[in-house]
Amino acid sequence: MDDQTLPIEGPQAGPLTRRRTIGVNVGGVLVGGDAPVVVQSMTNTDTADIDATVAQVAALSKAGSEIVRITVDRDEAAAAVPRVRERLERLGLDVPLVGDFHYIGHKLLADHPACAEALAKYRINPGNVGFKDKKDRQFGAIVETAIRYDKPVRIGVNWGSLDQELLTRLMDINNDLPQPKSARAVTREAIIQSALMSAELAEEIGLARERIILSAKVSNVQDLITVYRDLSRRTNRCLHLGLTEAGMGSKGIVASSAAMGILLQEGIGDTIRVSLTPEPGGDRTREVQVAQELLQTMGFRQFLPIVAACPGCGRTTSTTFQELAEKIQSDIRENMPVWREKYPGVEALNVAVMGCIVNGPGESKHADIGISLPGTGESPAAPIFIDGKKAATLRGPNIAADFQLMVSDYIENRFGAGRDKTPSVG
Ligand code: SF4
Repeated sequence: MDDQTLPIEGPQAGPLTRRRTIGVNVGGVLVGGDAPVVVQSMTNTDTADIDATVAQVAALSKAGSEIVRITVDRDEAAAAVPRVRERLERLGLDVPLVGDFHYIGHKLLADHPACAEALAKYRINPGNVGFKDKKDRQFGAIVETAIRYDKPVRIGVNWGSLDQELLTRLMDINNDLPQPKSARAVTREAIIQSALMSAELAEEIGLARERIILSAKVSNVQDLITVYRDLSRRTNRCLHLGLTEAGMGSKGIVASSAAMGILLQEGIGDTIRVSLTPEPGGDRTREVQVAQELLQTMGFRQFLPIVAACPGCGRTTSTTFQELAEKIQSDIRENMPVWREKYPGVEALNVAVMGCIVNGPGESKHADIGISLPGTGESPAAPIFIDGKKAATLRGPNIAADFQLMVSDYIENRFGAGRDKTPSVG
């Protein structure tokens, strides 16, 4: 090899500089500006069912959702909102609630002032706020309510309910062009124009730009990326990201992560929601977990300790390491609400649980604390690495339990009240 110099001046790893937007205060949670990307979610309960709604908002909030949106679709739901707010406060939960309004939001907000007051933000969909001459009037009524109660709004365009008058007008203009664009490109332009024109109208009515968040959701990954890239070039308003109708299970997680991951990497997006369809009876908090893991995996925020585990292969035919990795991860998730208070900084912890000697010691050395379990045919010993150095070797039938204790001790020593200032190498 002729040239043995190291290309250490090569490209840096990391996202592009975050695009600077105008920050919006949503019930005490700053979105945009200098704030980290905020995680939010939405309930799927009937808001009029106060018990169920309080329980689900509480679960989402405890899982880490920093803002929770609830449906406000009729009088009973609007009447329930202040009671939901009160009940949450009695539980010590101050998570901001956002009201999701369609068709009759102007009327519900006017008829239920306590609802207008209890909500921290109103979501308006310009595609279904009203039709023909009522559209601007009803949109204006919601904006005036927001001004009166000093609340921000999200102007949330969704291509499933896109303003058809605007779309038809743009399609007609396109058809007269010498080289018309595709219908899909015109639809994307209509989504963006709907969001921008609605925001301009809200500002003309008197709502400050610091009170406006925009979203432009579509269900196709490539369209979402294109729409948000374009939107972010055309406005400095705060942006809420989300792939609408992402779907169930791995399909929804992959599609949302692919779309939002690319945009976040480009510095686009101030708050995210992962719109997962839960399995029947499934856990609604999964969407919060996915949003947090997306942000943490990409290095934007830290929410809870990460467990690195190898996928396993023919070199480790026992399930011990899978069970241990799963147990450690679930213990962490369960204990996090307490640990967050008791062990400041614990969310930065990295734990490795590896299946054999091939990558086990190497990966464990990169972690704060790691274990390399014995693979098939290896001697029944599990070296433990702490802060990059071999600290102990576990043997016998209680390797898993012993390692869990060592993880607990590590957390206490490093993050507890009487923490060591030196790394706790054994
Ligand atoms: S660390 Fe060992 S068991 Fe795990 S995937 Fe690699 S070779 Fe297989």
